[in-house]
Amino acid sequence: MKLICANFKMNLLKKDILNYLKTIENVRKKNLVFFPSIPYIEYFKEKNYVVGSQDISYKNFGSLTGDTSIEQLKELGASYTIIGHSERREFYNDSKYVNQKISLALKHDFKIVLCIGENLKEFESSKTLFVLKKEIDEAFSNNLDMINESNLIIAYEPIWAIGTNKIPTSEVLKSTIYQIKNYILENYNLDLKVLYGGSVNLENIEELEKISEIDGYLIGGASLSPEKFLTLINKVN
Ligand code: PEP
Repeated sequence: MKLICANFKMNLLKKDILNYLKTIENVRKKNLVFFPSIPYIEYFKEKNYVVGSQDISYKNFGSLTGDTSIEQLKELGASYTIIGHSERREFYNDSKYVNQKISLALKHDFKIVLCIGENLKEFESSKTLFVLKKEIDEAFSNNLDMINESNLIIAYEPIWAIGTNKIPTSEVLKSTIYQIKNYILENYNLDLKVLYGGSVNLENIEELEKISEIDGYLIGGASLSPEKFLTLINKVN
């Protein structure tokens, strides 16, 4: 069964979350992880869903106004975290902290969804693999002895595909994910799962499902409507 991760980003209010939980009442709980905004983590936990945070602070505690500690997130019930989402890398200079955040998450037994991906310019100038390898190397240095197949999952998210309704061709996606897996296996001796993220929706899920290299999905916009999300989940093997 593939892993499905729903990233709500900074969307929805309490009433929407309560309605969401009601609508998805009978959905599978296995291999499904919700990443709501922090105030709603507990709501998902109370209903026995696996829940994660969209980010963590790079430090445990301290004078970091606005940050949330992984230990606080753990208290709310989070057991997963996304690290290195392109929006955090772009707006909060997060590439600088990815390595430290991974160490912290592993020390606290969180499972990590590590996002990597190239922007349009890099894609068009055939620099995709160069960028992905760099992001992997930066994330793995110092952390390798703690990373294993069950605590770190890669999410390949081409930045140009996020929220744009454009996705790579099946051929490109197949080859890129194969090369990500192969690079990690050859250089780090790890056989990691790779999710695809970027405009996954009801129109493209059937095509994506034909790509055997994809181990699951990180879904943003299409996870916001519980009805649509349920239909989407039912199309995933
Ligand atoms: C994301 O940003 O993680 C994502 C996958 O977004 P969307 O599905 O909206 O492209």
